Amino acid sequence: METFVMPPQPHPYASPSPTGSKADSGSEAPPGLLLDLDGVLVDTRPVMKRAWHAVQEAHGLGVPFEAYQEHLGRPFGDIMGRLGLANAEEIHRTYTEASTAAAYLARAFDGITDVLLAVAAAGWSLGVVTSKPLLRATPLLAELGCPFATVRGPGEQGRGKPAPDPILLALIDLGTDPADATYVGDMAVDQEAARRAGVPYIHAGWGYGRPNGPSPVVAESPRELLHLLGVITPPAPFVEGGLL
Ligand SMILES: [Mg+2]
Repeated sequence: METFVMPPQPHPYASPSPTGSKADSGSEAPPGLLLDLDGVLVDTRPVMKRAWHAVQEAHGLGVPFEAYQEHLGRPFGDIMGRLGLANAEEIHRTYTEASTAAAYLARAFDGITDVLLAVAAAGWSLGVVTSKPLLRATPLLAELGCPFATVRGPGEQGRGKPAPDPILLALIDLGTDPADATYVGDMAVDQEAARRAGVPYIHAGWGYGRPNGPSPVVAESPRELLHLLGVITPPAPFVEGGLL
């Protein structure tokens, strides 16, 4: 019996992209949007600040939160090493306990959920690549209510950011080529991880850090991200007598 296989069709929203590469890749998979969590999807700075203060108190540390924040995006153990702190495991226990207790302080960034739902509706796969342990990341992501097809965190396979490993693993999960994906981050390590994974990068200007090196594409707001991805949203339906 003969079977008919539809030839691959270029996705209407797959182009234009920040690099213009998505349209020419020849991949049949839908484009993928991978995002960092802290400082991109959810404003967790108040949580991190509270947790770091708990660490300072419990372990008698003088290292200010600003020094910790500078290295955000890297796995916790890596940050401890960079701060010259030896008892990383004990500190991590304190930090985890305090940040779990303060999780209620986290807030999704304005507009991010609507933007992700629009991207998903346009046929993109969504994924998260974070250095936050999954135990703490997944409740925050669940609150967003977005259809994430993969969440990659530290301590699974491979190295943490800025190594490309978690981005590459997420691409394997999605079945998407690097050139058909975009990674959105807010720290220089995110930009480096994307570069090393061969994935186009967009810097979230509403996050905590500044990009490094060659100037990347910057989205100043979630709404601008939508435009940069080339996702076209249908106009709001006109409802007679309605306010929308
Ligand atoms: Mg971040």
